[in-house]
Amino acid sequence: MQRPSNLRSFLGNPRAVDTLVRAIERNRLPHAMIFAGPAGVGKRTLAHLLAQLLNCLAPSETDACATCMSCHKVLSGVHPDVRELGPEGAFIKIEQIRALIAEVAFQPFEGEYRVAILDGADQMRQETANSLLKTLEEPPSRTFLILVTTNPYALLATIRSRCRMLQFGGIPHDQIEHYLVEREGINPREARIAALLSNGSLSAAVSFDAGRFQEVRGQALRFVRLLFERGGFFQISPMASALAKEKENFQLWLDLVAILLQDAYFAHVSPARMAQIDIAQELQALAGSLPISTIVSAIEAVQKLRRSLVYNLNRQIALEALYLSFVGTRGRISDCGLRIAD
Ligand SMILES: [Zn+2]
Repeated sequence: MQRPSNLRSFLGNPRAVDTLVRAIERNRLPHAMIFAGPAGVGKRTLAHLLAQLLNCLAPSETDACATCMSCHKVLSGVHPDVRELGPEGAFIKIEQIRALIAEVAFQPFEGEYRVAILDGADQMRQETANSLLKTLEEPPSRTFLILVTTNPYALLATIRSRCRMLQFGGIPHDQIEHYLVEREGINPREARIAALLSNGSLSAAVSFDAGRFQEVRGQALRFVRLLFERGGFFQISPMASALAKEKENFQLWLDLVAILLQDAYFAHVSPARMAQIDIAQELQALAGSLPISTIVSAIEAVQKLRRSLVYNLNRQIALEALYLSFVGTRGRISDCGLRIAD
C-alpha cells in the first residue's frame, strides 16, 4: 500500500484531516491526541504523515516534501524522534511507557518535534495508563503524543479527558475502488468487489484474497439458489452446519450472500449497479424467475440475521431459522415441516 505524502491526498475522513490542517495552520496542534475509529482506515498512516510533516525540512503549507533527509527517515521508520509502540503480547507494558516518558523528557534528537504514536492504546492495564497521565497532561513543548485505537471507550476516562479526540469512519466504497484501480493497478472488476467487501477498510481491500473469495462466493451462491429454488430443509441443514464451523469464512460468506441478494435486486431494477459482473447473467436468470417482493424479503431476512449475530447466536441455528422464516413468508412452511420430520 502506498503512503500519501500530503494531508490533502489522504484517502477518506476529510473531517479529521481538515481538523488537523486547520490546527497546523493556526499553530495550535494539540500535543495529546486520540485517533479513534475502525481498523484499516488509515489512523496510523495519518499519524506518521503528521510526524513526517512536522519534521520535514522543506514543507509547503500542509505538504511534506517526501524527498528530504527527514522525510526519508520517517518514511523508512528510522527517524530518531518519531517513535511508534504497540502491545507486546496482549498489552502495552508499563516498561514501554516508562521508557517513552524518559525519552520525551529530552528535546528532540535531530528533528523539530518528537512524535510518539501509541498503537492499540486501549490495550493498557490501568497502572500502565495511569503512568502516562502526567505526560499527557503536560506534554513537553516539542512533543506530540498520538494514541491510536479502534475502541476509544476502553481507554480510561482520565486519558480521554487529557487528549483531543479525532473520530475516523469507514472510507466510502467508491473511493476505495478508485484507489485500487488507480494506485494498486487492480482490475476494475476485482476492485469493485474488494471495495464492497472491505467494510470501509482500505487495508482489508488491499489484502483482498481473490482465491478465497471465489471459493466462499461459490458457497454463498449455492445458499442463495437453495433459498430461491425452493430447496428442502434437508439440503440447508448440512450446509448450515458446515458453514457454521468455518468461523474464519463465515462473515465473508454472509457479506457475500447479502451482496448476491442485492445484485438479484439490481438485476430487476438497475442491472448496471450489479457488483458481481462476472456472474451477472447467472444472477439475472435466477432473479428473473422471481417477483421482486421475494428478493426484498430475502434481503430483509439476511439483514435480520446479521443483526442477530452481533449477539453471538449459534450460527447454524440462526441460518436454519433464516431459511425457515424466509420460506415461511413464501407460504411453504408446511413443506419444510415435513422435511424436518424426516
Ligand atoms: Zn521533507
